[in-house]
Amino acid sequence: MDQEEETLTETLGPQPEDVATSSKYQEELEEFLQSRYASRIDSLATHYPEEKSLIIDYNELDEYNPEVAEMLIKDPYRIITLAKKALEAQKPMMSLERTFKPNVRFKNLPDEYEFSIKDLNSSLINKLVAFEGTVKKITEVKPKLVKAIFECVHCNKIHQIKQNYKDNKLGKPSKCIACNRKSFELLEEDSEFLDTQKVEFQEPIENMRGKEQAKPITAWIQDDLTNILTPGDKVGITGVLRIAESKKKGSIYNKYVDINHLYKKQTEFEDLELTEEDIEEVKKLSNDPLIYERIVGSIAPSIYGYPNIKEAIALQLFGGTQGKEKPDGMHIRPDIHILLIGDPGTAKSQLLQYVEGLSPKGIYVSGKSSSAAGLTATAEKDEFGEEGWTLKAGALVLAAGGMALVDELDKIGKEDRSSLHQAMESQRISVAKAGIVTTFKANAAILAAANPKYGRFDKYELPAEQFNIPPTLMSRFDLMFPVKDEPNREKDRALAKHILITHRVAGTRAIGRKLEAEKEEEEKRTLPDIDPDLLRKYISYSRRHIRPVLTDEAEERIRDFYIDLRKVGESQDSVPITARQLETIIRLSEASAKGRLSDKVEIEDAERAIRLQKTCMQEVGVDPETGKFDIDIIATGSSKSKMNRMKTVIRIIKDLNKEYDEAGYEAIKDEAKEKGIEKEELGDILKDLKKNGDVYTPAYGVYKPTEE
Ligand code: ADP
Ligand code: MG
Repeated sequence: MDQEEETLTETLGPQPEDVATSSKYQEELEEFLQSRYASRIDSLATHYPEEKSLIIDYNELDEYNPEVAEMLIKDPYRIITLAKKALEAQKPMMSLERTFKPNVRFKNLPDEYEFSIKDLNSSLINKLVAFEGTVKKITEVKPKLVKAIFECVHCNKIHQIKQNYKDNKLGKPSKCIACNRKSFELLEEDSEFLDTQKVEFQEPIENMRGKEQAKPITAWIQDDLTNILTPGDKVGITGVLRIAESKKKGSIYNKYVDINHLYKKQTEFEDLELTEEDIEEVKKLSNDPLIYERIVGSIAPSIYGYPNIKEAIALQLFGGTQGKEKPDGMHIRPDIHILLIGDPGTAKSQLLQYVEGLSPKGIYVSGKSSSAAGLTATAEKDEFGEEGWTLKAGALVLAAGGMALVDELDKIGKEDRSSLHQAMESQRISVAKAGIVTTFKANAAILAAANPKYGRFDKYELPAEQFNIPPTLMSRFDLMFPVKDEPNREKDRALAKHILITHRVAGTRAIGRKLEAEKEEEEKRTLPDIDPDLLRKYISYSRRHIRPVLTDEAEERIRDFYIDLRKVGESQDSVPITARQLETIIRLSEASAKGRLSDKVEIEDAERAIRLQKTCMQEVGVDPETGKFDIDIIATGSSKSKMNRMKTVIRIIKDLNKEYDEAGYEAIKDEAKEKGIEKEELGDILKDLKKNGDVYTPAYGVYKPTEE
């Protein structure tokens, strides 16, 4: 760590006043430690080496000796080294026999030394800085050589060489100072190794505004700070900003941080900083009788229509009651997952991107462009890890405690699909690869969009058959909305008008002019009702403080809805609703209560949740043939009536095989027709049966059941 300092002193030679000030600083540090940290040093000495660091509060040092504190910022290596010496100097009092070489770490730097990652520029090089970061990548822990002991193979002279841990080159003596020759042997037992880990941090999403790109920075962790972090962790850091020569580009230097102290922060997006005035404003807003309409009116106002989708998204932003557990300790997911499925060019992507900006912590990813690491999490061998393993966090992990906006869900790869599956229900992602087994927190609410397999939505087909998404994944979504682009003169005119106004507003603003008075009313409709900044704070506050509970009336209303619908199912021989949808309704009604900062779920909240759930089910959970609710459409990808007809066809094939030892297409067709299944549909059913492996064709036009 102090190699740089050493080389500097070597080249310049010790400056007399430096030596003098250094010993003065060391004395002052010794006094400081004795007066403020004596008992903690005692305890450290007792527990060393299980405990290896003394953590000093910057404010205390600043209070005791502002000059040394200032020097710590300006010349951190020097002061940290002196502080270590000062600490080691306490050793005689503790009559310790063994080596006592603890780290000295500094926490709580004042705000003026706290930067965002993108502001860590070259003026701060070799200074002590503080910043916040989310772990994006982290390598496994490796022992790095810090002090190498070499023996000259000719004359056995011992040389001690401090290593530069940031590159992989072994620092060797250039020649033997005794015999001038150049062959050495590394004495590993006598050399000193230190655990190190390389990390890439990125700006926490909740700290960014608008469409900024999250800036990364590489950092090194050592000794007792290793093995603490996993990808997705949000961390507060104190460290020294350094530069290293880039391996590839000659004169370009890479920045990195040598970490002195770190601590984990909460990763929830609720910790958006709110001032007293903010809270007052938030509370005032919650008393508006039209608060609900106003929130919905603030979701992507530039996008025309979709009142139900916007309402669902509003609820999703608040989420259900957090921190609930079943009596047996099972965690209950509070996040609401929503899927938009439908025609291209219907503003799905736009909607997702808007919500990314509105959510206090939101990440947008597209299934088309994202690799496995992009969406969930992976372990890889790569350059960053210098041939070792690197754990990488994808969007779901980075968005933990917030929202993940997943576009083109139908295009994501198999591997991601299965971790997405896991993340949506258990809110974790596990990676098991070559001896690495880790679990990442991935409690993000998911708003996803998907396009149909054949370009356009066909309302006569079942949704599960039109999307490249397995039904098991599909059924993990609380709400599913088909987004259809059907020509409708009135709607088309209104949409065109809306889009044109949006463009005109944007255009006049771009050239700094104001709109004519009569257009102002129209302009309003394309602007958010509540300022996005305030809404973000409002959501944040609600998520942090409001934990609504169902009232008796609301509970009764939900129960009745569920039981009534199940009863209908009984009489029509289908399953219209399952416990999953019941949980969705509970989550939605809790979110609705949170929307007005109420800790009681009232009957109106239950009604709203039921209405939304019903609208969705009417659109996607209805068998197009019978017009009845049938949850199997979502859960298994096939309606009861279709399943029944598939069963009929299998029966026919089995019977024909039993009787004639063969089922030819013509015979199947005749039998099927008798049972009311037409030729076209029979073709589809046979295809499905083959795909599912229920039947196979040993010869052209001949069908056999896979099991008798
Ligand atoms: P998708 O992702 O559904 O294929 P996009 O989000 O890319 O569609 O939208 C295509 C374009 O059409 C966007 O520029 C969007 O603004 C516009 N658009 C489509 N529907 C609407 C709407 N209802 N209101 C406003 N703009 C719309
Ligand atoms: Mg799109």
